[in-house]
Amino acid sequence: MSPVDDLPPLREVIQRHGLAPKKSLGQNFLLDLNLTSRIARASGRLEGVTVIEVGPGPGGLTRALLAEGAARVVAIEKDSRAIAALGEIAGRYPGRLEIVEGDALSVDMRALAGDGPARVVANLPYNVATPLLTGWVATEAWPPWWDSLTLMFQREVAERIVAQPGDEAYGRLGVLCGWRCEAKIAFDVARQAFTPPPNVTSSVVRLVPRAAPLACPVRDLEIVTQAAFGQRRKMLRQSLKSLGDPAALLQATGIEPTRRAEEIPVEGFVALARARAALSA
Ligand code: SAM
Repeated sequence: MSPVDDLPPLREVIQRHGLAPKKSLGQNFLLDLNLTSRIARASGRLEGVTVIEVGPGPGGLTRALLAEGAARVVAIEKDSRAIAALGEIAGRYPGRLEIVEGDALSVDMRALAGDGPARVVANLPYNVATPLLTGWVATEAWPPWWDSLTLMFQREVAERIVAQPGDEAYGRLGVLCGWRCEAKIAFDVARQAFTPPPNVTSSVVRLVPRAAPLACPVRDLEIVTQAAFGQRRKMLRQSLKSLGDPAALLQATGIEPTRRAEEIPVEGFVALARARAALSA
């Protein structure tokens, strides 16, 4: 019997359903149910909560989420080979697991989540991890439909998500996430925990929405951060040239033209985004 339930060990599930990992789908499976339970617990208490899980694969994290008490798990999986394996888990937890075969980049997660408290927990496929994250945080619709995101990333991406001004890893992703959320690295996961092992260490990151983020248009924030970090070591009076008249933007915000993107806190980028929106209105 496995540590979380009476379903068969994941190795056996993978073999029986012909789930040999595919690189093209970012398949690095977690087979240790103690570890998947730790990830599920890092997302907070699950009783009464709907969890959206992207990429359940053979279902190690899915099983942990259900065993830890999630009221409902909606599991979105692109690989049709995994659907039958997930069906066995649905049978063990009647009415609590919905399996959606599809591409997480195009399904309407808000609609799938329904009305109650909802959150996202996932060991993300690395090839689509960043677009999925920006889709959750950099959206006009705020507050979001989720109360937290608990996600596995490559350590290098995790560092960019939680980075602060002055950090080597500080850039667009840190600004977009830091604007809307508080983000923390919960713990690292060694390469050897995955089958097959990826090339680098991974980290579980937890993001919680800020109650009242400073208001600004998402699109303008994306544009100013792209220009500023596109030439991160140049002074803003130079790096913002692609936006038209950098002097007007900087004057409107009171930011010194000689400062560089890597030193500007989130509040500074929000001011720049607002100024750009006002000047281009
Ligand atoms: N959750 C499983 C685990 O922890 O062992 C599998 C995680 S594996 C890193 C990523 C999973 O995402 C794979 O099952 C893969 O097939 C799936 N996947 C890849 N691209 C996807 C996409 N665009 N939409 C939904 N699932 C996807």
